[in-house]
Amino acid sequence: MPKADLLIYNISEGLPIVSKAVGSREVGKTVAYGLGIVVRDRKIIEVGRSQAIKDKYDAKIKINAGGRLLTPGLIDMHTHAIFFGSRDEEFAKKISGIPYEKILKEGGGIYKTVEATNKASDKDLLASLLKRLNTMLGLGTTSVEIKSGYGIEPDKEIRLLKVIKEASKATVVTVVPTLLAHVPPKGSDSDDKLRYVNSFSSEILPEVKKENLASFVDVFCDEGAFNPEEANMIFSMAASLGLGMRAHIDQLKNIGCSKLLQRFKLSSVDHLEVSDESSIINIASSSAIAGLLPASFLATQSKSKPPIDMIRKYNIPMAIGTDFSANSLMPSMQNAIDLAIYLYSLTPLEALVASTLNAAESLKLSDRGRLLEGCYADLIIWDLERSSMFGYDWGRDRILALVKDGSIIVNRI
Ligand SMILES: [Zn+2]
Repeated sequence: MPKADLLIYNISEGLPIVSKAVGSREVGKTVAYGLGIVVRDRKIIEVGRSQAIKDKYDAKIKINAGGRLLTPGLIDMHTHAIFFGSRDEEFAKKISGIPYEKILKEGGGIYKTVEATNKASDKDLLASLLKRLNTMLGLGTTSVEIKSGYGIEPDKEIRLLKVIKEASKATVVTVVPTLLAHVPPKGSDSDDKLRYVNSFSSEILPEVKKENLASFVDVFCDEGAFNPEEANMIFSMAASLGLGMRAHIDQLKNIGCSKLLQRFKLSSVDHLEVSDESSIINIASSSAIAGLLPASFLATQSKSKPPIDMIRKYNIPMAIGTDFSANSLMPSMQNAIDLAIYLYSLTPLEALVASTLNAAESLKLSDRGRLLEGCYADLIIWDLERSSMFGYDWGRDRILALVKDGSIIVNRI
């Protein structure tokens, strides 16, 4: 009898399954029923019919899923989780409708976080980041993208990426680090901004590449941040260095940032609240995934939603992130899924695939986010019988068991 470390059986429904058909009654491309799954040396070694799997292996640990849903661990494809300080005192103003420009003038907004972050010690930044990662893990996030961006100055951005690297060594969560061109330094005129973009491209990017500090470069391409020409400069350098690329586009105003997709191979374009059909066509003719951030839609009191019907019409894969940031401390991918269902009308299945398989694709994590032999065993047994209950049964932590790289982190069964 072949040996295994962990075997989970009596799984009512499992997704996403992306290659060969498994289970007794496969429907669609991604869902299978009546499953068992086996893990050895941190990885999935077989997915198949529950009884056959149970009979075949001699596993150290066997878990009866009790006829419940199993998915990979959730993948948060968009966070700004490294920063220091709180902006709670401006939150009530923001919610009451006071414009962000006024909050900025009164000393709040992003530059307040930049100041607090740059004053904080490495030790304090690391401790606060690890605490956040631990919270996210407990809520089902097994992989997370973390952007720098609250340092602004070149040496400060490098420092944040180094702290992210330290954190990734100290947590079991898989961390994907991203260098973010967030906003220009406070009070920049157009010349200052150009100088900044130049130093970002010529000083930060080569160092990031040399020290292997980030997998991706992200540009906040929008009104009040960087325009398409400036983003073009940054991406030209990133592309020549072979760094991955992603961007914030069409959040506040559509200033033509989707045209960058005609020149650069971006892995994801996120937000899309004010995208029109021309943006969607640009995305559709690229290989980028559409990143949806419904918690950010709420936190920024946005009046416009991503054109989901158009994204579906053009067959663009969707991913979901929390956009955890100094603007909104929302760490839960479970909540992000519920919000995507309620606010953006994603189906429960779409939302789950967006938070596993598509999120993994957007982060180039080819061995996570799917129930497939050879992939790392990041798994969740849900206190739900079917994927269709997601969104309908909501507002509570629905995790019964959580496995990360084959190790049981949570077991309430
Ligand atoms: Zn963001």
